Amino acid sequence: MRVSNDKSCSWINELNLRTNIQTLSKNLECEWLIIGAGFTGLSAARKLAEIYPNKTITLIDAQLAGEGASSRNSGYLVDTTLNDGFTSDRDLENYKKKTDIYKFGIEAVKNFIQEYQVDCDFNECGKYYASSKIDDQKILENFSIFLSKLNYENHLLFKDDLKKKLGTNFYNVGLYTKGGILLNPGKLARAMINALPNNVNLLENSFLISWKINNGKIICEFEKGFIKSKKIIFATNGFLKSLGIKKNYNFPLTLTASMTRPLSDKEFIDIGSPKEWGVLPVRPMGATVRMTKDKRILIRNTVEVSNPFYMSKIELDKRSIIQRIGIKKRFPQLPDDIIESSWSGVVSRTRNSSQIFEKLDDNIFVAGCYNGSGIGVGTLFGEQIAIKAIGESNREIESIESLNKAKWLPPNPLLNFGIKTKLYYERLIARSEI
Ligand SMILES: Cc1cc2nc3c(=O)[nH]c(=O)nc-3n(C[C@H](O)[C@H](O)[C@H](O)COP(=O)(O)OP(=O)(O)OC[C@H]3O[C@@H](n4cnc5c(N)ncnc54)[C@H](O)[C@@H]3O)c2cc1C
Repeated sequence: MRVSNDKSCSWINELNLRTNIQTLSKNLECEWLIIGAGFTGLSAARKLAEIYPNKTITLIDAQLAGEGASSRNSGYLVDTTLNDGFTSDRDLENYKKKTDIYKFGIEAVKNFIQEYQVDCDFNECGKYYASSKIDDQKILENFSIFLSKLNYENHLLFKDDLKKKLGTNFYNVGLYTKGGILLNPGKLARAMINALPNNVNLLENSFLISWKINNGKIICEFEKGFIKSKKIIFATNGFLKSLGIKKNYNFPLTLTASMTRPLSDKEFIDIGSPKEWGVLPVRPMGATVRMTKDKRILIRNTVEVSNPFYMSKIELDKRSIIQRIGIKKRFPQLPDDIIESSWSGVVSRTRNSSQIFEKLDDNIFVAGCYNGSGIGVGTLFGEQIAIKAIGESNREIESIESLNKAKWLPPNPLLNFGIKTKLYYERLIARSEI
């Protein structure tokens, strides 16, 4: 199996084609090796290269850098989450710790954007949690109280106000939270590639087949050669399990999303010319929906246990139909055929929604499992795992390490059965919100 993503994500297709792509074509020896060049690996490489300007940092990816989940997500840089995948948060103290991490993540992205003058359509417009089910008002009221205790500015809205803000009368109740940010993830990932210091040796389209420890060195086998490294950071997120890393503590899930073409002026006026917005679901399996800066609608409404390496065109088309229905439910006045692209992406989850940030062995480090917060937390964890790997610590690392640890998971087929049952149940509850 090789990581092989579809080529149909608009966020990626709108970027300039990159040239001068280097692949691994012979054996290599290095001191620092990072596997996976998404937000985590790119941030780890940037940080290490800054710390050691005279050393070479090798960063390698199975596909083109940044073109995995990092460029394929919905672009919410989150300050809070109501549902972490398919679990809800109830415990104030733990929730505070989690939101502290989100804050550090937002800071990390903001610092990067400022330092490198990045244009990634960064919009501090806040976000909505919204539902068509009036019964969900209770959940949002409780969440509002919860957020207010932590000083997050928020307010409830109902159908008419939501219609004015979002241009759809699908939603009956919503909670606006001021601190969320929307951005273009493809542009952010590309900026991280462009910002890599010269001492990062970026190798792409080079799939890590296997790895082992031999005489204190890590030997990595790729299709066209071996890399022998003194230290390694695994930043492959949804593919950690397939590399045997923390394999009883994380599992991959496949998500799909679709984006429309830009709405015409008339179509946009017909829905009330709303400003850019983002809606997250109240129910864990409901749809994430966005109106982008350039008047396109993005919808993500599937999450499933699937082959993380590849989704066939036929399977992707089936998910695209679910997304077309999701858009039609919210915007019945828009034509049926406005979806421009549909794509899949892989994330990594743990049983209790905890992230993974660890030293696995002497000179072996791993960071991953952010679910729907990987833009900020992935950037943060990438930078911080680099600092941990050089043996240092700071307040960010202390905060990260004070979080709950990932819980043990049973092996397959029990694991997949359990996840599928849970997802099925959550989908049933959220069926009106898909
Ligand atoms: C549809 C969708 C919507 C999402 N929405 C949001 C959102 O709105 N906000 C948010 O914060 N997060 C969101 N996420 C999650 C977010 O995208 C991830 O958490 C984030 O991209 C993780 O970054 P990463 O660098 O750790 O992993 P990735 O971006 O997945 O990068 C890992 C890299 O490792 C490489 N790799 C894997 N196996 C190997 C191997 N064997 N050899 C070499 N390289 C390998 C892959 O090719 C990949 O490029 C979403 C994800 C998806 C799929």
